[in-house]
Amino acid sequence: MARIHNFAAGPSTLPLPVLEEASRNLLDYADSGMSLIEMSHRSKIYDSVHSETISLARELLNVPDDFDILLLQGGATLQFGMVPMAFLRENTVADYILTGSWSKKAREDAEKIGSVSVIWDGADSHYTRIPSDDELQFSPGAAYAHICSNETIGGIQWQTFPDTEGIPLIVDASSDVMSRPIPWDRVSMIYAGSQKNLAPSGMAFIIMSRSLIDGAARDLPAYLRYDLHADKNSLYNTPPSFVVWMTKLTLQWIKANGGMSGMEKRRDEKADMLYGMLDDCGGFYISPVDRNSRSKMNVVWRLQSEDLEKKFLDEAEREGLSGLKGHRSVGGCRASIYNAMSLEGVRALTEFMKDFMEKNG
Ligand code: PMP
Repeated sequence: MARIHNFAAGPSTLPLPVLEEASRNLLDYADSGMSLIEMSHRSKIYDSVHSETISLARELLNVPDDFDILLLQGGATLQFGMVPMAFLRENTVADYILTGSWSKKAREDAEKIGSVSVIWDGADSHYTRIPSDDELQFSPGAAYAHICSNETIGGIQWQTFPDTEGIPLIVDASSDVMSRPIPWDRVSMIYAGSQKNLAPSGMAFIIMSRSLIDGAARDLPAYLRYDLHADKNSLYNTPPSFVVWMTKLTLQWIKANGGMSGMEKRRDEKADMLYGMLDDCGGFYISPVDRNSRSKMNVVWRLQSEDLEKKFLDEAEREGLSGLKGHRSVGGCRASIYNAMSLEGVRALTEFMKDFMEKNG
């Protein structure tokens, strides 16, 4: 079996030991004579997978006791609407910071529900940078403030989270969850689609404070109620059991590879290698993003022309370097180097980039 280096933004590469473990156990889980994904979600066996997933996440991210972990469906996109439906009540406002495509999508959904104040918009700089703390002024008494910690398309990332002066900070961490510790003194809720740093697609991984849950709206259809999901330990309805199982395996892999500090070290080595290439290529590859806002998960670059970009992408694909095409809305190239991307994968990419530059520069 020849596995290629998959740099896709999501669904994306998963740790090989996770896929191997899943395939070994797919047909007969824990000597039950059936697959875990054929099993009742009320069974003892599934329940142990479910609770172990939650307790591993709690341990790895050092989640405080007064925060709950929810495993829901609908991906991150459902959270764009579910958050304002729960927290943006009449006579309140929510602050949104626009740093790129995903934070703009979150804002669009919130505006359908209630009153939104865009307190910073990176449009002037084409969404190539994260604002500094002194550019932000939160609305007094805002219901919450929303940011996207890592813009998957634009390739920029909050290096530290802003001090919201007591306003609950809600973070779309879809593309950098589990790549670094979370500063719980600044954050009230994170949510993430599962298909980048956790598992296959099909789940929203959510961590939120009890006080936020207690204040969430209850006059909503059942699935939209955070309090119901929290009270039922995310078993109010049938959970995405396959994705939960795969998340458990990924979390075990993270733990075996040094937990959050191990992931940070791995992440830095890969990002340094790739940005080093962009910095030392004499302008052959162009990084459009501000240095201090560089994403360590999604590295984006351009070449001199679209024709050259196409040639680069075609040749890369032939070399087993896949998924490097930038998002269709922006073009260019993008390497998504989530936790599971190996150092060897990034080394192969930078060597290819060097080679391509020598031949075409
Ligand atoms: N937020 C971010 C930062 C994303 O990268 C994505 C998906 N690429 C989403 C939200 C939407 O996630 P989903 O497809 O899981 O709804």
